[in-house]
Amino acid sequence: MKVYMDYQATTPCDQRVVDSMLPYFSEEFGNPHSGHFSGQTAFIAVEKARRQIADLIKANDHQEIIFTSGATESNNLAIQGVANFYQNGRRKIVTSSIEHKCVIETCRYLKSQGYDVVFAPVTSDGIVDIDFLKNIVDDNTLLVSIMTVNNEIGTIQPIKEISKLCRNHGAIFHTDAAQALGKIDIDVTDVDLMSLSGHKIYGPKGIGALYVRMRPRVRLAPLFHGGGQERGMRSGTIPVPLCVGFGQACKIAKAEMHEENKRLGEFKKFFVNRILSALPKVYLNGHADLRIPGCLNFSFEGVEGEGIMLGIPEICVSSGSACTSASLEPSYVLKALSIREDLAHCSLRIGLGRFTTFEEVEYVTDRIVEVVTRLRKMSPLWE
Ligand SMILES: *Cc1c(COP(=O)(O)O)cnc(C)c1O
Repeated sequence: MKVYMDYQATTPCDQRVVDSMLPYFSEEFGNPHSGHFSGQTAFIAVEKARRQIADLIKANDHQEIIFTSGATESNNLAIQGVANFYQNGRRKIVTSSIEHKCVIETCRYLKSQGYDVVFAPVTSDGIVDIDFLKNIVDDNTLLVSIMTVNNEIGTIQPIKEISKLCRNHGAIFHTDAAQALGKIDIDVTDVDLMSLSGHKIYGPKGIGALYVRMRPRVRLAPLFHGGGQERGMRSGTIPVPLCVGFGQACKIAKAEMHEENKRLGEFKKFFVNRILSALPKVYLNGHADLRIPGCLNFSFEGVEGEGIMLGIPEICVSSGSACTSASLEPSYVLKALSIREDLAHCSLRIGLGRFTTFEEVEYVTDRIVEVVTRLRKMSPLWE
């Protein structure tokens, strides 16, 4: 039985999303920036998609949604855009040590450009250390960038509290919400900038968005220059079919996410109970409750995550994160939790989602128990 359980890496495009996109490839193919009727049809479709995205994150105005190629670009645009636009003397940028690589690397780049960049630590259950933030965010802080939901361990960060802190000091607050969109209630009232991705919520790959607050207005220097589309922040012709698909994915998520979460919550409970009761010395990484139900991350003492993956080739899961699993270094996210070094090497991320069935959950838990038991018998690390 082939099973896909890697919903944090990407999700299949929902058939309803595909259907909504199809007319915009070769029938309604106009350039939304053209003045004629063909352009007008495309323009109307794109603005509808903008509204559907704005709706899901409770944005006041759909013009606050800027289309990009994905969350990687959105994060770069938000962080570099703020740093390059505001030359007001503030030089401090605060982020966390468990952000997605594209945030970490963008911040590292700005550090090399002379910015004072601080990577805030997290607690052992994967929640950003709020007391540390309270000490470090000050009137010299230009930007704070903390993700809403982590992509490796699924923990939900205290966005409201961080927002208050930023407001008290006049710092701009950006959050990478790629893993939160369509999974938890998002209220953009708390933030100034928010990154979103299409392919994490059953939409197409290659499309994302950046929410950019209009009141009070947050300004960004663009990453590339051109025709001035997307309020001057993102030049280039927007990919109409992808925008339409992303909008449709948001509409579906809004209607179905609460039911979906209930179902995934049951699966999660079953999964965790089954694994923890069948195998000794297994640990669930990340906070027990402050997490989305569809992201499970276990450490199996005495067996490497890569080894488990080799033993279950018919099941798509991830050891470490997709970006780092090619290297032998353990995941920097698990390292940041300061769990034991050996346990960081022994981790497996399992992602449940919209098309996961109970039958699959039973099958995968059985297979993991079987393979871990077998590997432990052979392991010199295990007695
Ligand atoms: C997937 C992901 C990204 C990157 O999104 P793309 O649209 O693939 O560029 C960024 N941040 C988080 C938290 C993610 O899960």
